[in-house]
Amino acid sequence: MTASPAPAYKDTLNLLQTPFNMRANAKVREPQLQAFWADNRIYERLSRENPGAPFTLHDGPPYANGALHVGHALNKILKDIINKTALLQGRKAVFVPGWDCHGLPIELKVLQGLSNTERKELTPMSLREKAHAYALEQVELQKGGFRRWGIWGDWDAPYLTLHKSYEAAQIGVFGRMVLAGHIYRGLKPVHWSPSSRTALAEAELEYPDGHTSPSVYVAFPVVELPEALGQKLGEAAGDLAVAIWTTTPWTLPANLAVSVNGSLDYAVCRVEGEPAGGARHLVVAAELVESLRSTLDLGLTEMVRLKGAELEGLTYRHPLLERTCPVVLGGDTITTESGTGLVHTAPGHGVDDFNTGRKYGLAVLCPVDEAGNLTAEAGPFAGLNVLKDANPAIIAALQEAGALLKEQRYAHRYPYDWRTKKPTIFRATEQWFASVEGFREQALAAIDQVEWLPASGRNRIESMVRERGDWCISRQRTWGVPIPVFYHRETGEVLLNEATIRHIQQLIAEHGADVWWQRDEAGLLPEPYAAEASQWRKGTDTMDVWFDSGSSWAGVLGGLPGDQARAEQLEYPADLYLEGSDQHRGWFQSSLLTSVAVNGHAPYKRVLTHGFTLDEKGRKMSKSLGNVVDPAVLVEGGKNEKQEPAYGADVLRLWVSSVDYSADVPLGPGIVKQLADVYRKVRNTARYLLGNLHDFDPRPQAEGGDAVAHAELPLLDRWMLQRTATLIDSVSGDFERFEFYRFFQALQNFCVVDLSNVYLDIAKDRLYVSSAGDPRRRSCQTVLALVVERLAGLIAPVLCHMAEDIWQNLPYPVAEESVFERGWPTAPAEWRQPQLEAPMAQILELRALVNRQLESCRKDGGLGASLEAQVQLELAADESTAPLREALAQLEASSQPRVDNLADWLLVSALRIGGPAPEGVLAEASEGGLTVRIARAEGEKCERCWHYETDIGQHASHPTLCGRCVAVLEG
Ligand SMILES: [Zn+2]
Repeated sequence: MTASPAPAYKDTLNLLQTPFNMRANAKVREPQLQAFWADNRIYERLSRENPGAPFTLHDGPPYANGALHVGHALNKILKDIINKTALLQGRKAVFVPGWDCHGLPIELKVLQGLSNTERKELTPMSLREKAHAYALEQVELQKGGFRRWGIWGDWDAPYLTLHKSYEAAQIGVFGRMVLAGHIYRGLKPVHWSPSSRTALAEAELEYPDGHTSPSVYVAFPVVELPEALGQKLGEAAGDLAVAIWTTTPWTLPANLAVSVNGSLDYAVCRVEGEPAGGARHLVVAAELVESLRSTLDLGLTEMVRLKGAELEGLTYRHPLLERTCPVVLGGDTITTESGTGLVHTAPGHGVDDFNTGRKYGLAVLCPVDEAGNLTAEAGPFAGLNVLKDANPAIIAALQEAGALLKEQRYAHRYPYDWRTKKPTIFRATEQWFASVEGFREQALAAIDQVEWLPASGRNRIESMVRERGDWCISRQRTWGVPIPVFYHRETGEVLLNEATIRHIQQLIAEHGADVWWQRDEAGLLPEPYAAEASQWRKGTDTMDVWFDSGSSWAGVLGGLPGDQARAEQLEYPADLYLEGSDQHRGWFQSSLLTSVAVNGHAPYKRVLTHGFTLDEKGRKMSKSLGNVVDPAVLVEGGKNEKQEPAYGADVLRLWVSSVDYSADVPLGPGIVKQLADVYRKVRNTARYLLGNLHDFDPRPQAEGGDAVAHAELPLLDRWMLQRTATLIDSVSGDFERFEFYRFFQALQNFCVVDLSNVYLDIAKDRLYVSSAGDPRRRSCQTVLALVVERLAGLIAPVLCHMAEDIWQNLPYPVAEESVFERGWPTAPAEWRQPQLEAPMAQILELRALVNRQLESCRKDGGLGASLEAQVQLELAADESTAPLREALAQLEASSQPRVDNLADWLLVSALRIGGPAPEGVLAEASEGGLTVRIARAEGEKCERCWHYETDIGQHASHPTLCGRCVAVLEG
């Protein structure tokens, strides 16, 4: 209402009454509601006692380091929306949150916090103790943030990868893989970070833009040709060299072969003019002759063409070291996309090289130490660092030897250590591997059994698993789970068998992984080995943290065969894994590989992925850009709450529901303001519904209550319930498909359009003006009560605090303490009356046309409130108005004319269809056979209901009221 009626009459209206605040006051109210859930054990009871089947969304453990950011919010809130929906649907949705606690970042954090002296005195055990304490601290901090967002789960019993039981299960997974023959030790090139002095997993690499390498073209002089080849070449065999290209000159001291593709064409070319690289003839790929002419600035004339296979067995002299090496056949990975088509091969420094070398029995030469310095095996280059001075020195030596054809900078993708931001190298070391080859086909078959959402995830992980090499699972660090292996002190023989693994697993289950560092070999070995413990040395490697988290199906879901400690109510395979789309390479994959290796199937039935969070302009969030949205500030407010108000967890949750998370999602101050507006609209709608129910008894009238039976409801009310049923159906589907942004849109539409703009707008007169017990008002209240209870249920997975706040403020008793105990909203069959939609749409269109005319009258100043107006409609008697006439006829025929009455629906004082035009028309419009005329209403304004009526002044006791209002007041 736009102004107040006379004070005395205002008190006779039924005005809003509710303690449900317009303002959320989230900073105070949300923690109160969370305390209510905790005190009443709502999550604990529903997750254990619900009648439905268990639902297991298995939490991917965030790393226990650092403050929570919006990426955490997107991830955990999505999970919580899904879990709360499952709980509402009666499933036993136990959620065990987890943390990934081992690994280098925490180890580095601890080391950075130490003084030099402390660092010198550090023992592995004291480092582990500090790392343990640090991880627990971080877990507590992050846990507090998650709980503040209203995330439900077993927060008092989360899983940590540093728990004894978890570590023991992980050793169990490792042991099963050992016994199945999937674990081996080998010298193998791995991604090695000289700056961290450790091997790195694929997932620990990043590829920054702008990396360039010093690439060189080099001629290797041919020493000997196979006889057939010599005859074929004839004159072209004189002063012959093979040309190679490399972007890592520092690997040339490790060169043991040159690889060619057997099926490619190669050309032996004459070098015109001066010899190049000491050669008068060069072998290069035939397809590259032309481009090499300009790259090398050489006159090259093709003399003989031959297949790569014909070059096999040719030998050449290493240009820098006393060594003769062969040309060998590499694979189809050798192409003519760049270089010369002949590939410098160093089995100690590349995976393809290693594989080729194995085929030809080449040594795995690796003349580089863990710091990246060349060793004595590199001859004159010993002591140079491969990332610093080795390249220039080697290039200079090539120049001096006359072998250099060309040097140029080359920009390409190059792997960096994601922690130190320094380049990595390939380096052969003794490592422990999981042989993916041993179960690759099974893994691919398992991928096929899983439902991937979005479907593109399947191709991603499938091609990654198809193409990945063996998994290097050992790390040269202290903060982790040990690889439980012993080496013979003299022979180096490995001791790793069922008895030793079982024994270590038991020790770790009892004492934790620390036992590996606390005890000597005698204390770690089972009999009979303990008796000869002095012969054995325990290993010092720890496991890749991806093996830690990848074992969570065993450590948490109890997936190890024969595991008696299987967690109650948790399913293996899990119903759902849900993480960022980078986890196809990380956790989804490590979990898949370990589960397949042990049990032959994936640890999950469905995998859902989300994108990453960006700012409003689509940029990464970073401190330097100043575009970081801190979820703690968004929820609790900043230092200056005028600039950074406390929006509350529900607004953060609403954001998560609003985005299409299948792609990257934006967040920034503008978006937060819009979300806060939507939040307020929903809240105000709920407040209006609650505020009009303060005197309503929801029991049926037959039982002494106020609720009107569905069959007796006016058309307008039945339409509103039909809309509500439609909303329930569509939102149920949206949640089923995890398409929460559709829920977000449907919710807004329902609150703003169906409720505020239409139903509640028309209902004001019924609710305020009618006498409290008038059926006209009671039927409306019946609808409001039915709608508000369902609205609370539908928003509960997302706006959990507001939903509970609504429930706690229902002004009548309900059976359930919490909205979550009510269960997922349903609509009785009689609500579904789709036949009401088309006529109502006709009338709403008419209403919009009338409103536009009223609005123009108001702008002209000819009219104030719409109740000052009367409307006359004229309908052409042809097809164009047939649907509207039919709709109006239905309205006319309603058994509830005091509600289903077009003048009331248009919020005007009088309405006439047909007949002569009213006098003093203020506005007139025609559209599709319909003419609308607006004129000033006849009579005077009733001081109580503001309708213009002609019977005012006829009642001595209330001379300023209309007959209807007098009847209300005089009962
Ligand atoms: Zn009145």
